Amino acid sequence: MTERVTVAIVGSGPAGLTAAIYAARAELSPVVIEGEPSSTSDQPGGQLMLTTEIENFPGFVDGIMGPELMGNFRAQAERFGAGFRMTKVSRVDLSRRPFSLWTSDNRGDEPTYSADALIVATGARSLLLGVEGELGLIGHGVSTCATCDGFFFRGQDIAVVGGGDSALEEALFLTKFARSVTIIHRRDQLRASRIMQGRAFSNDKVSFLWNRVVSGLKSEGGTLTAVEVTDVGTGEREEIPMGGLFVAIGHAPNTDVFKGQLEMDDSGYIVTHPGTSLTSVEGVFAAGDVQDHRYRQAITAAGSGCQAALDLEHFLAAEAHGTRE
Ligand code: NAP
Repeated sequence: MTERVTVAIVGSGPAGLTAAIYAARAELSPVVIEGEPSSTSDQPGGQLMLTTEIENFPGFVDGIMGPELMGNFRAQAERFGAGFRMTKVSRVDLSRRPFSLWTSDNRGDEPTYSADALIVATGARSLLLGVEGELGLIGHGVSTCATCDGFFFRGQDIAVVGGGDSALEEALFLTKFARSVTIIHRRDQLRASRIMQGRAFSNDKVSFLWNRVVSGLKSEGGTLTAVEVTDVGTGEREEIPMGGLFVAIGHAPNTDVFKGQLEMDDSGYIVTHPGTSLTSVEGVFAAGDVQDHRYRQAITAAGSGCQAALDLEHFLAAEAHGTRE
């Protein structure tokens, strides 16, 4: 049977859970569809479940572990009455209100939920190389976020994979900490903008390994110790001792189930009205990385989750009073 809810929140990273705290405190009884346990970033808690220590989330002087931080967010939302469902949204119908949502544990035709208003906070995922052992080494030498983890590689020789703006930006940021940064790129030309290329080429700490792909990762005691690279032209393999590897080959927003129903940009990110969380569908709001490919920080995601809950509360109140513009 379809469960009728006032507010459904899809996603349980910093954006979704902050929205849940605000919506719950506004007595809107939000239901958070938090995802299913998995080893990728679309699991409950989102990308921070794949990190270790977070040192730049304000309020935690000595830092906090990613999973612990997300556990705190969740407990806080729960304390104010947010409901949680450990399942994934598999289909939506946003063509009329109340909106219909189907979840992966629903074998029938009837929607699992019908919701008056919806917050989409499904986040984005860093693309990974797909090399054996990669997932297990995230937080133990392999990282997808220089801002988060660069500090841990002070004085070390490390590498960044990718040839786009993200890879160069990460590499340049990492030169603040590392002794050297090697950019491993699969071609002999960068995709990054000219200005970023200029900065990278003129930085003494940055060097390049052209026409190479990462083909293996070596570890000891669960920590990365070396990277195996393969020359795409000759097939020659080489093992390079290294304590840190940053994968910066792009991101993808988790928006597949909303395709064709919400306006998105060319990369699949949900378009919001500037300065707000409003999407192309009235009553649907978006928060966090699913609509932000620029900042991608836990704190900015949490801030936009707050905005989405406030926008939603305002929308429902205006509707109830018949004063919606
Ligand atoms: P991107 O532009 O798509 O670049 C991804 C890079 O990773 C490419 O060089 C690509 O190689 C490489 N790559 C992809 N899959 C790979 C694989 N399996 N193995 C090895 N290498 C792989 O992504 P991005 O750098 O994240 O940038 C995304 C967008 O954000 C871009 O529009 C970018 O300009 C923008 N951005 C801007 C800034 C800035 O202005 N400061 C900073 C970050 C991002 P190929 O080149 O061979 O395809």
